Parts: sequence; C-alpha cells; structure tokens
Amino acid sequence: MNKKNNNDRFYSLNNYLKEKFGCKIYKVSLDGGFTCPNRDGKISHKGCLFCSNRGSGEFTGERGKSISSQIDEQLEFIKNKNSDNNVIAYFQNFTNTYAPVEYLRKVYYEALSHKKIIGIAIATRPDCLNDEVLDLLSEINEKFFLWIELGLQTAKDNIADVINRGYKTECYIEACKKLNERNIKFVTHMIAGLPFEEKENLFETIDLINNVKSWGIKIHLLYILKNSRLEKYYYEHPFKIYEKDEYTDTVAELIERLNPEIVIHRLTGDAKKDDLAMPLWSADKRSVLNEIQKKLKLKNTFQGKEYKK
Ligand code: SF4
Repeated sequence: MNKKNNNDRFYSLNNYLKEKFGCKIYKVSLDGGFTCPNRDGKISHKGCLFCSNRGSGEFTGERGKSISSQIDEQLEFIKNKNSDNNVIAYFQNFTNTYAPVEYLRKVYYEALSHKKIIGIAIATRPDCLNDEVLDLLSEINEKFFLWIELGLQTAKDNIADVINRGYKTECYIEACKKLNERNIKFVTHMIAGLPFEEKENLFETIDLINNVKSWGIKIHLLYILKNSRLEKYYYEHPFKIYEKDEYTDTVAELIERLNPEIVIHRLTGDAKKDDLAMPLWSADKRSVLNEIQKKLKLKNTFQGKEYKK
C-alpha cells in the first residue's frame, strides 16, 4: 500500500491523487443530461431501489446548463478550499455512457477542454459499455487521466434482484475484463446494509472486487431518504438498519480484506441532511470516518491485513 501519511491505515484517493499530481485535487460533480436504462423503461421504469430522483447524484451541477458553466459554478462553490488547484470532472448522476457516442464525445471533451480540468471520472452501469463507447473511452484514456465507476452494489444476484439492479453479476465481471484489457481504471461501488444481506455477502462482494482487479472502491452505507420508494419498502419489509458502531466495525473488516493496492474513494453514504430519514447518525460523515480510523487503530489493523490472493 502506498501511504503518504503513516497515520492512514488505508490507501485513500487523496493519497493517490497527491502522489500523482503533487497536491490536493478536488472533483466537480456534473450532470451530463443523461437518463438510465433502469429508469427509462429499457430495463425497467422503477430504477434501483435506493436511487433518488436525481439519479444518485445529489450534489451535481444543474441539469440543462452547459458543462463548462456547471464547472465554473462548481469551482466557485469550492473556491475557498480549492485555492488555485486543478480539478477532476465527475459525471456522476444517472448513467453517463447511456447516449449516442457522438453526444458522449461532445460532453466529455467539453469538460476536458476547460482550463482547470486535469481528468475525468464517468459513472455508469456495466451493461452500458458497448464497443463503440469503449473505443471512445480508450481514446480519452490515452490522452487524459480517466477512471470509470461501476455500480455493482452487491456480488449476490438474489440481493441485486431485491434492489432491482437490472443486470447479473456476470455482466459486471465481463465489463471489468474489457476495461482491464484496455488499461482503463475503474472504481466499483458497493453498498453495506442492503435488505436481507448477511456480513458474509459483504465479504463475497469484497472478494469479487479484489478478483476483478478493480482499481478503486466506493463503500456506501445504505441510507433511506424521506418519502422514497426505499422508505416505503422498509416499512413493508423491515430489514436491519446499521447502528453506527456496527457499521464502522464492519467497514473496518472490509478494509482488512481488501487488496492493499485498491484505492479507497469512499467509506460511507452522503445524503442531504434534510432529506435523510434514517439512519440519522450517518449525517455526520466526518464522525463516521473518524470512528472507522479509530477502530482500525484500536485493532492495530490496516488495509489488506486479511487479504488473500
Ligand atoms: S443504475 Fe444508477 S441511475 Fe440507474 S436506477 Fe440504478 S442507481 Fe439509479
């Protein structure tokens, strides 16, 4: 594990970006005007059970505005933190490869032509990476810093069916192979706390992420938004909601099992406070992250300690 700060017990994105660019790098979250096959009817009209109205991107720029003006607005928003550093353009919400390739080319290159942008991150589904899209991503990957994000959420197809993910885990494995063949970095999203999931299932998901050679990982806590479909589901089919102590213990175990080379982008959920129904403790993200660090230190453990090739 490449650690800049010896107090860190895992390989964070911050550390990776500092090593690569020599300074702290922020992301600006953009709305590329996309939809999703799991919402527009191609696969389903319902979407994933946890997906919000904004396509799981609550902090993106404003839909309908040009990419360059969204970048400018987001830069203004973070100007106190960001001083004069460059940033990564993050196409975050909905499925950001689900459009004709000419449109993808237009929006990606519009972002990349902004003077402050040093790279691009694109969130998508593994079933939305056809050869034409992959060719465009390869082209960008040769010239710019790029990573792709894939919403796996769980390795277990039966749990994926409960959340209406809309594709089989085999499809994720195939997409990972194709991305690796093209040397395109990818980050895998997983969620802890899905309905009827056992801890063993989380370990299986981590093992799969290790095996497919994911470059990065985002571990999300499942949170429930007020008046959401998930909230309704919860009251009809109650399932376990993590307490903070149990969640931070579990994440510490997942980190131990993770390949030490995998870059950790996220360790908890990120809901808007006013919209959050439960668990309310998750609103204090800083305290959750501190607690995870504390647990790792107390156990004197670190990323990869329990990793088995
Ligand atoms: S794939 Fe993403 S955008 Fe589509 S329904 Fe699922 S979470 Fe929402």
